[in-house]
Amino acid sequence: MPREARIAGMDWAQLKAAVRECTACRLHSARTQTVFGVGDEAADWLFIGEGPGAEEDARGEPFVGQAGRLLDNMLAAIGLKRGQDVYIANIVKCRPPGNRVPEPSEAGACDVFLRRQIALMRPRLLIALGKTAASNLLSSDASIGSLRGRLHKCGGLPLIVTYHPAYLLRNLIDKAKAWEDLCFARETMERLKAQAPAQP
Ligand code: SF4
Repeated sequence: MPREARIAGMDWAQLKAAVRECTACRLHSARTQTVFGVGDEAADWLFIGEGPGAEEDARGEPFVGQAGRLLDNMLAAIGLKRGQDVYIANIVKCRPPGNRVPEPSEAGACDVFLRRQIALMRPRLLIALGKTAASNLLSSDASIGSLRGRLHKCGGLPLIVTYHPAYLLRNLIDKAKAWEDLCFARETMERLKAQAPAQP
């Protein structure tokens, strides 16, 4: 059976095992471990970043360290908490050497895992953190500036684009824009929940 079809039929446990063993792109050769994702597997919110950095590679969890603390603060600002109705994942599950941007072939090889996570989770709203996530999820090379502030669709699900926390650490001036994006995301979620309340 082709790889895509096999992965598309996996449950959470099978998917985690497949990621752990994956050698589908060259990023596998330098990793300490894969970084699958973290959080509530039935979350309404799915935040997607670029790929693991050094600390994430060492700990096996996305968004730890300084950028992770900023993401946690961003979540708290809109009443969210890591692990509670929030899931966090990345475009690639192995660390690109030197924290470089993942190559299209690497992102392409890993995409099937993220798509399966999304299909199993069925979140209400996706948040693309940064250019790599936005470009891969929307198949667009447009800038973050031109993509933010609008509701997009990815695989039939609503998607909002904002800045990556690591970028915000270096560009404090854009924090206000990220705050606008988060407010937009919170309003969008309220609307989505009003349109389709959770089943009892
Ligand atoms: Fe496999 Fe993704 Fe790691 Fe590449 S980045 S080896 S596709 S898990």
